[in-house]
Amino acid sequence: MTAKKIAVLPGDGIGPEVMAEAIKALERISKKYKVKFDFNHADIGGIAYDGHGTALPKETLRICENSDAILFGSVGGPKWDNLEPEKRVEKTALLGLRRHFDLFANLRPAFLYSRLHKASPLKQQIVKDGFDILIVRELSSGEYFGKHTLDDEQGFDEIRYSKKEVERIAKIAFEAAMKRRKHVVCVDKSNVLSTSVLFRKTVGDASKKYPSIKLESMYIDNAAMQLIKRPGDFDVIVTTNLFGDILSDEAAMLTGSIGMLPSASLNEKGFGMYEPAGGSAPDIAGKGIANPIAQILSAALLARHSFKMEDAAISIENAVQKALEEGYRTRDMMEEGLKCVNTKEMGDIICERIC
Ligand code: NAD
Repeated sequence: MTAKKIAVLPGDGIGPEVMAEAIKALERISKKYKVKFDFNHADIGGIAYDGHGTALPKETLRICENSDAILFGSVGGPKWDNLEPEKRVEKTALLGLRRHFDLFANLRPAFLYSRLHKASPLKQQIVKDGFDILIVRELSSGEYFGKHTLDDEQGFDEIRYSKKEVERIAKIAFEAAMKRRKHVVCVDKSNVLSTSVLFRKTVGDASKKYPSIKLESMYIDNAAMQLIKRPGDFDVIVTTNLFGDILSDEAAMLTGSIGMLPSASLNEKGFGMYEPAGGSAPDIAGKGIANPIAQILSAALLARHSFKMEDAAISIENAVQKALEEGYRTRDMMEEGLKCVNTKEMGDIICERIC
């Protein structure tokens, strides 16, 4: 049996704690589906900066290049906050990997099961039926990849999008929508930004190939409001890098905790990096209370997109749902009358339910 190689990059803060639980889930999958996973650990982020002088060491890149997929934890923390801008560990590690592998498509599912609607901070009448949103964020261009300059008097950031870059992210969004409820909302700021005018027009042109899909356009400020007012009306959202970053955190919080949501970043060849939507959570790192679900669900996305193991992905997702339905919660999602568990206990409970 050929082993499927996974580069494991736990990173900083809660990264290693939640990664341990995701690996446990993959080991369970390995037994159940008789596939062999080779886990190759490597340093990334602050811990890599301390040990190798850079947040993205060559050895880490080599391990990633020799793997079939990357499972990423999170990077950064107060210890590295004062590094010069070009050495910032988040920028070097995350943007470096995204650029190196041309991971242009970021898929961020945000779903709330109707039976778990009480976890959402929104009013119960808004979320009683749950919601299931997929945010498709352009990840390798736009605001985060333009030229940035800063002196004492002014800051300058460049935003640039090419038609080709928008076409390829639009295709990902429409293809995803075809397998879902066939509704795409294009989010931009085309009343102000030229890049957004191009984005909206190119998405509109691309939609002609998908006549069964309903396409709507929305300005980012309105989209941020509508997500709170009527999240159940959204299916797929396609948007630029910065707007996707903000909206996906907002959508994550609507599910109850940022510790719940996974993400997949893919390139044109289907190579992917999988990571939780949240950061390294330095405020709770080392306490054993972090929610491991986003990292475990990232492993499910890895099984689905990189290894085409749909059944395995679904069995992890069902196990998470079961654990939540049975009332188990980490502290970030705790409510009266439910059972509070720590990171490792939640990982164990989910693994026991992978069947
Ligand atoms: P954060 O997502 O780390 O934390 C925001 C809040 O959410 C905190 O209260 C934290 O405790 C909570 N939280 C996050 N994940 C959680 C989990 N799994 N379980 C329970 N609670 C959780 O964002 P931040 O505080 O803005 O950033 C902290 C550090 O992480 C910074 O250095 C930032 O640059 C970095 N960061 C890294 C990534 C990444 O690696 N992909 C993403 C965002 C932020």
